[in-house]
Amino acid sequence: MSSTPTVQVHAIYTGQCFLRNHMLFNDGDENESTPCPVWSFYIYHPVTQTHILFDLGLMKELDEYPPKIKEDFPRVFKPQVKEDVGDALKRHNISPSQIKTIIYSHPHFDHCGNPSLPHFHDAICLFGQGTQAYARPAYPINHESRFLESTFPEGRTHELTDKDYTLTLGPFEKVHDFFGDKSLLLIDAPGHMPGHQLALAKTGENTYLLLAGDSAHSAAHLQEYEGRMSYYMHSDKDAAKETLKKIAALTKLYKDEHKNVRVCLAHAGHYEDFERII
Ligand SMILES: [Zn+2]
Repeated sequence: MSSTPTVQVHAIYTGQCFLRNHMLFNDGDENESTPCPVWSFYIYHPVTQTHILFDLGLMKELDEYPPKIKEDFPRVFKPQVKEDVGDALKRHNISPSQIKTIIYSHPHFDHCGNPSLPHFHDAICLFGQGTQAYARPAYPINHESRFLESTFPEGRTHELTDKDYTLTLGPFEKVHDFFGDKSLLLIDAPGHMPGHQLALAKTGENTYLLLAGDSAHSAAHLQEYEGRMSYYMHSDKDAAKETLKKIAALTKLYKDEHKNVRVCLAHAGHYEDFERII
């Protein structure tokens, strides 16, 4: 029995995308692609009975993506979606309208689902510091943008500020305690893009999940960030490498304290349907 509050985390498969191999590894063939899952994570906080999502994954309505993204669909990403996050929740008897907050690792197309669907109309959309300065104005205000304005609904979009980052955690300097009980920490982890954030979920007395978004796009990157890893998809290569170094340091720090941290990337790993991850 855990003595401090924990959260439950379940994986939701929202489809798959392809990445060209040179986007993943320096020695990757640009004419070959690798299929990558697109995961969303459902988080439940039993003490307050709060339902949260960390990322929404892909949206089924592929035609609603910005033209700049759709240009890349046939030749690069080739997204495939059968069931979106809302469908999956309903199939598990969770009404999407119960979702109080959608925490975004970052607002790239494969993490934002379709937030304009009615069933998420009450959810707060929470982003890391610096996200909107980088991503807005988005499409359709800016026709060249790869981001969608609908990801930032008026009155429901919150972005963390300096005063929210009240903790540090090992090598990470900007950490937000979402529930105020350390069961879910949001960690500033730029590099993939400004405002990119991780979520550290405490799932048991000594077990943690680090929902790591697009810090990396392959489990191999967690070891090979100074070797074969390509930083093709990261807006700031040095910051992205620094984030991966910090993830490795945090994992080691916890291991030394006999705590287990499992890193869950948005595009790697295999989970059963709505698997509860611990
Ligand atoms: Zn992604």
